[in-house]
Amino acid sequence: MFLSIVVPCMNEEDIIPTLLDRLSAAIAPWQDAAEIVLVDDGSSDGTWEAIQDARLFCPNLVGVRLSANRGHQIALTAGLEAAQGERIMMLDADLQDPPELLGDMMRMMDQGYDVVYGRRIERQGESLFKRATAHLFYRLLNALSDVPIPHDTGDFRLVNRKTLDAVLAMPERARFVRGMFAWAGFRQIGIEYSRAPRETGETKYPFRAMLRFAIDAMTSFSTKPLKLATRLAFASLGITALMAIYVAYSLILYQTAPGWASVVLAIGFFSGVQLLTLGIMGEYIGRLYTEAKNRPLYFVSEESREPPKPAVRKS
Ligand code: UDP
Ligand code: MG
Repeated sequence: MFLSIVVPCMNEEDIIPTLLDRLSAAIAPWQDAAEIVLVDDGSSDGTWEAIQDARLFCPNLVGVRLSANRGHQIALTAGLEAAQGERIMMLDADLQDPPELLGDMMRMMDQGYDVVYGRRIERQGESLFKRATAHLFYRLLNALSDVPIPHDTGDFRLVNRKTLDAVLAMPERARFVRGMFAWAGFRQIGIEYSRAPRETGETKYPFRAMLRFAIDAMTSFSTKPLKLATRLAFASLGITALMAIYVAYSLILYQTAPGWASVVLAIGFFSGVQLLTLGIMGEYIGRLYTEAKNRPLYFVSEESREPPKPAVRKS
């Protein structure tokens, strides 16, 4: 097997035929040595049935069905573990990442690169809010993280077996796949593209999921937020000192100190600071806890491969 295409899918039944059309066209030059791995991430619609139907006209299709919804990054990991190719491309099911870029990515890899990642220079059909928060997220993440994570890259990339095996050897549960590839190193290069609007269906990343994703990314790639507590402590000591000076002044000048309003404000401010630092610590402790439990990332409930043969799985 030379080429694997890995696509995580949650409730994407409507798009699977179009997706496979576009993917089949893109992999045509490597037709006999290519596979398409679709991971059904615990969908509640007919995604798995759509994958089974598609096997009739798409012989190199591999279906992996997870036992429950595990989220985009884990579904992607499951697909990467099932992939057998020497080169592996990953993309979203909604065709926001154009599969037609595969040819260019392959040529760049031929020049000796281990990873060719897509960089979105434009995002069509996404709300101003999503674009603004994404923009902010990549900049904040880079300010925090010790490894540079390329701005505006998603999970759309072509990687070779060496790099993939390195990333799959990382056992962490909180998976921020694009950061893990950045951390792995090797020779990487970006290719710019403009991100299309979602073909059909709705985004599977509501604000809550986006926030989770961002917190996962930052806590996986930086411990700087933990050190924020120390800085906040110094800052609040500084502010208290200024207040003390002010109170001393007014005692001397007016023989009276200002009353309850400033007390309430100060209590509010300092309890805010304390809760914030507690919350940050809680995020890391929660992560330690899930890592320590060391549960498997996912379970595969069904796997379909053509021609039928016992599934060979590396782990
Ligand atoms: N996805 C998934 N499991 C989830 C959420 C999303 O497998 O719990 C898949 C989804 O089917 C899609 C990809 O992850 O292929 C990216 O999701 P989406 O396009 O909704 O995110 P957006 O592009 O809006 O950020
Ligand atoms: Mg999308």
